[in-house]
Amino acid sequence: MKYPICPRCKSENASKSGVINGRQRFKCKQCSYYFTVAKLGKQIDSYLVVKALQLYIEGVSYREIERILGVSHVSVMNWVKKYNVKPPLSADYRPTYKVLNHNELNNMVTSPDFLKGAGMILTELGDKYMMIKWERFRE
Ligand SMILES: [Zn+2]
Repeated sequence: MKYPICPRCKSENASKSGVINGRQRFKCKQCSYYFTVAKLGKQIDSYLVVKALQLYIEGVSYREIERILGVSHVSVMNWVKKYNVKPPLSADYRPTYKVLNHNELNNMVTSPDFLKGAGMILTELGDKYMMIKWERFRE
């Protein structure tokens, strides 16, 4: 196990020192400071942050991003604020998205009709792929 960095002196030389309120407590061997760290599992992968911001820029709503990525829309709103992301206005295109396995993906992109008048990005999502597609609004 890798021990966390001391918040006071930034030393990586800590040892376990009991559990406080369900959190592991550590003691820094360098400066003798006691500290706890947030529970693991709460940390969000930076990969998801990037994906969420990509979707946001492409006009996908917070609720939809929550549904696609499984991260709360509140987190997404916070990231948008934190990174000061502003989507350009793009009212001509409408995003849709699908989560596909490799076979389904293959079948879709082999059809020329599917590719006409649209743009898309593909991105890995767990063991599947997410396709976000933009089609022009039909008059
Ligand atoms: Zn320290």
